[in-house]
Amino acid sequence: AGTARTPALAPPVRRLLSKMTLEEKVGQMTQITLGALSKPRKPRSFVNELDLEKLRKAIVDYKIGSILNTAGAANTIENWREMITVIQNMATKETRLGIPIIYGIDAIHGANYIQEATLFPQSIAMAATWNPDLVRKAAEITAREIRAAGIPWNFNPVLGLGRQPLWSRFWETFGEDVYAACRMARAYVRGMEGENAERIDRRHAAACAKHYLGYSVPLSGRDRTPAWIPRRMLRELFLPPFAAAVEEGVHTVMVNSSEINGIPVHSSRFLLTDVLKGELGFKGFVVSDWKDIINLHERERVASTPKEAVRMAVMAGVDMSMVPDNFSFFEHLVELVKEGAVPMERIDEAVGRILQVKYELGLFDDPFPPPGARNAVGAKESAEVSLAAAREAVTLLKNENGLLPLKKGMRLLVTGPTADSRAYLNGGWSYTWQGNEEFRYPKEKKTILEAVTAKAGEDKVTFVPGTTIDKELDIPVAVSKAAECDVVVLCLGEATYCETPGGISDLTLPEAQIKLASALRKTGKPIVLILVEGRPRVINRIEPGVKAVLMAYLPGPEGGRALADILFGDVNPSGKLPFTYPRYVNYLMCYDHKWSEITGGNKYDPQWPFAYGLSYTTFEYRDITLSRPSLRKGETLDITVRVKNTGPRSGKEVVHLFVSDLYRSVTPPVRQLKGFTKVELAPGEEKTVRFTLASDDLSFVGRDNKRIVEPGRFRVTIGKLEREFELLE
Ligand code: BGC
Repeated sequence: AGTARTPALAPPVRRLLSKMTLEEKVGQMTQITLGALSKPRKPRSFVNELDLEKLRKAIVDYKIGSILNTAGAANTIENWREMITVIQNMATKETRLGIPIIYGIDAIHGANYIQEATLFPQSIAMAATWNPDLVRKAAEITAREIRAAGIPWNFNPVLGLGRQPLWSRFWETFGEDVYAACRMARAYVRGMEGENAERIDRRHAAACAKHYLGYSVPLSGRDRTPAWIPRRMLRELFLPPFAAAVEEGVHTVMVNSSEINGIPVHSSRFLLTDVLKGELGFKGFVVSDWKDIINLHERERVASTPKEAVRMAVMAGVDMSMVPDNFSFFEHLVELVKEGAVPMERIDEAVGRILQVKYELGLFDDPFPPPGARNAVGAKESAEVSLAAAREAVTLLKNENGLLPLKKGMRLLVTGPTADSRAYLNGGWSYTWQGNEEFRYPKEKKTILEAVTAKAGEDKVTFVPGTTIDKELDIPVAVSKAAECDVVVLCLGEATYCETPGGISDLTLPEAQIKLASALRKTGKPIVLILVEGRPRVINRIEPGVKAVLMAYLPGPEGGRALADILFGDVNPSGKLPFTYPRYVNYLMCYDHKWSEITGGNKYDPQWPFAYGLSYTTFEYRDITLSRPSLRKGETLDITVRVKNTGPRSGKEVVHLFVSDLYRSVTPPVRQLKGFTKVELAPGEEKTVRFTLASDDLSFVGRDNKRIVEPGRFRVTIGKLEREFELLE
């Protein structure tokens, strides 16, 4: 097992560290939330006012190194720039050493705490595009916009795998597959941090891979509750996206708020120090999650006092405490060092890491918002990227008798609780934590209803809400209006939510929505179902009654437009599910299940399988070829396939490469994704798609929990085509 040593520090950082007192060092490890440093916020306000006295106490008296978050809601870009200027002036001019603050924010789908910023589809929707280039571009724009506010650090990407659909943060993930998450992790980190990982320029920001490790699969489905993950599975599924982010040079990592196998991750020296800083060679710093050092005492109860909690977390490898609103961490840690319970070397390691990140961000040169950068925020071209992503995310899951695209001129009933909401298209982390303050959403971004009306014409569209998310409103009116229309556009799904408040007790969509769907079905009118939801809510009682289904996920502010474009055929859908859409609440299974799970009456029987998604055109695959019949360790194998657009319109197709290890010493999954690429094809056009597999791509975590490459036979599958090859000794 590795141990953490201070990574190589730049000479100015080394000199600075050698001048620091214990208090100055511990201050750097302390992070306080903006709300604790601000005046009470006026309701419905778009600006925040700093409380200079509180700020001075934190920065000058307690020498804190970091501030985070917004206080309640998004602020205008001008307000952010003013606040950051005040904060950095105080830090650099009123403290002995003048060390700038590193300000961190949750810019989860764009700079969602800057009022004028560009918002994007949430990560689960970005994953559905299967287009890492869009992920990279969105991250780039997000970086530029937070940096314009003077904020150089983003608490994203979320690299847990979405394998527990009940979990309220499912939509913050890139879906259930480890390979896809690794690709998206790399794209996001590159976009956020820029091309030069060692010196982040002023258009880029430090990313934060979170929440390390195993946060996303709570057994109960409830946020911040225990996960039970065998070591092998940790290494097989949950570690690789973090390893990929570290390889890309990610500057910070945030810790899983909860526990794995009875051990809170904030107290796990094994995971934080031995694995992350040792084995993976992570050189940045580790930040706790919200209040989670205190939680080792108050909630997880592995520390009998708050001070013991601080000792545990720091000795486990946490470098910075998101306290978030008092100075207990500072007081306890200073005492612990004086008592000899925490060695100074450990403090130096933590502070060295933090200062090095500040240095690589250029904060010592200039910590202020760049002049002129304001114009970057909310640029028109950025909204186009968001629109492109929403268009590529939306996934066509059913289209009986080619009901879609709708013909122009049809009379439409638009109904359902998600039809006329901007908030529901965006979800949590939108202007507020829960994203539920509709008045904060810019009016020029269209709801589904507004976008459909703009396209079809006022006289062709009738709107009846039918229900709220969970209550009946006017279902009989919806039914009677349906009779006057040609097609029903039924918009169902979820309200906004984030973290613990988003917990549910039943994966099924609420009863009121099912009633609306059943009542409409009885009218006999063809129904197009649009799902606006952050996790796959079970719809097995609704699906048989509808002719077409569009999965919108949480498509962001341009989602209304993207959906209207797809409904009317101006855009051909190309999204594919980045997760398995379950059919039954008690039959949850991922695509990379084991053979026993589909043997003897067991089956993979989801509503829709992983990677599923239809198009308005058709694609045919042929001529799958392997560059060699076998390979040895260290060698690579090329796989090619011809893909042809055999339908009437141009379209984009995601080509997925699956590999099955036929026999091996640890039970093999039925198949695993090992490659994907998105191609655009005109009608009649054919392209060759090439994948390269290295022998390492065939590795797995063996019986002794170490990654191995084991000789044997493998099968590759692309579409319905298959080929076998041999991995030799
Ligand atoms: C969340 C983190 C987030 C942090 C700061 C926590 O509650 O779990 O994902 O970065 O708050 O807002």
